[in-house]
Order: sequence, then C-alpha cells, then structure tokens
Amino acid sequence: MNDKLLSERLKMVANFVPEGSSVADIGSDHAYLPCYLMNHQRITMAIAGEVNEGPYQSAIKQVKRSGFTNEITVRKGNGLEVISPGEVDVITIAGMGGQLIRDILLGGVEKLENVKRLILQPNVAAHLLRERLADLNWELVDERILEEDDKIYEVLVFNAGNGKQPYAGMDGKELQKNLLAGPFLLKDKNEAFMKKWQIELKKRERILQSLTNTEGVSDKEAQVTNERDIIKEVLS
Ligand code: SAM
Repeated sequence: MNDKLLSERLKMVANFVPEGSSVADIGSDHAYLPCYLMNHQRITMAIAGEVNEGPYQSAIKQVKRSGFTNEITVRKGNGLEVISPGEVDVITIAGMGGQLIRDILLGGVEKLENVKRLILQPNVAAHLLRERLADLNWELVDERILEEDDKIYEVLVFNAGNGKQPYAGMDGKELQKNLLAGPFLLKDKNEAFMKKWQIELKKRERILQSLTNTEGVSDKEAQVTNERDIIKEVLS
C-alpha cells in the first residue's frame, strides 16, 4: 500500500501501536490503517471491523490489493462484536464522534479484558472518552492534537491501568478543565490546540448571546457560562 493513502491523522494513530501488536481496527472503512501497519511490519495480525456493507467491501478489496489476506481479517459487524476476548492486544477506533466511540467500547466491555491499549481518535467530544474511560480504569498515557485539511483532530492513548492517575490531586474546576481539554494537551498547547479552543469559546459566547434574549433558560445559561469560563482558563 502506498503510504500516501494514509492521512497524517491516521499516521499519528499508527505511531502509538506498539511493535509486534495484534490489532482490531473498528470502523476501518478502507482498512488503510491495518494495511499500513502490516506494510511497516509493526503488527503481527489485524482484524478490520466494519458495520456497513460499502466500507466492508472496500476493506476486503484494499486488503487483497495490499497482499495481506493471511494477516488481516475483514469482519462485518457492529463495534466490538467482530472480536473475541483475548484475540487482540490493541484496539484502534478513529474518525467517529466521541459518543459513538464510547458506546462501541461500553457495548463490548467483556472483549476488553486482555486488551492492553486503546488508541482513539474522536472527531468531536473527546472529553466523553476521558471521563468514562477513567471510571473503567483505562489510564490516559498520551494525547496529540493536529490540524489536517482545515479540521482539528485529537488522538487519545489509553493503557489498561489506573484511570484516575492522570487527574491525581485535581478537583473542581481544575478537574473539569483537564477532562475537557486533556491533561497532556494542556501541558503543551500547540497551534491546533489554541485554534480549537478559540473556536469553542466563540461557540459558547454566541450561545450565551442568543440565550440572553430568551426567557426560562437559566439552567442552560449556567451550564454554558461554566463551560465558557473553563475554556477561558484552558486558553490562559
Ligand atoms: N477509521 C477510518 C478513518 O479514521 O479514516 C474510517 C472512519 S469513517 C468516518 C467511520 C467508519 O466507521 C465508517 O466506515 C462506518 O461504516 C464505521 N462505523 C460506524 N459505526 C460503526 C460501528 N458501530 N461498528 C463498526 N463500524 C462502524
């Protein structure tokens, strides 16, 4: 497979796959990620999972074209139902909303028992993953943010471990800020990070402006005001 087929976003996901892993890529579409990982001899085998017929067929074609039909199995199914417990040690899920990624993981927690690492690339709502996975003892160990084709993407890496560890000693607004924007990303605020949160701040300010002209919205106003104040902290 030509490396140029893989976006910078997916290369960033690939960089976090430990050498010698077995990987399930859920929502694999063209299976570019597992093909790239095999091409670079990073992994021993992969399962490419797809729920929709079109992308499932695209994955089969790409795996054949890349010559990895022995190493990459393409399976059709919803979320983690395409894997058995203990079958892989890394799961990648990229290019979906944070809520869908969270629901896919929660829908198959029994499949996660022997998994050592989750590499997740939510297009939106990364905070939902930080919040929920901390409760399930998935320890956030790294994060990246990048801009590609005018879109900003986050990559979150979780190892089986102590989910609360990255937020140790934090509470109140500090904890909310870290769950929202990411403890690793907050330590190294790059251009993409600043751009994302400036856009998010403007969104909240627009909502607040529209709410001041509407009656009976005090709960919503309080919630958005809190978010706006946290985002100001994030940007400071
Ligand atoms: N992972 C690739 C990437 O990052 O470029 C493809 C992302 S594409 C936007 C999302 C893919 O996830 C689609 O091909 C869709 O069919 C698949 N998908 C959505 N929900 C799914 C689910 N519950 N289980 C498996 N695949 C799913």
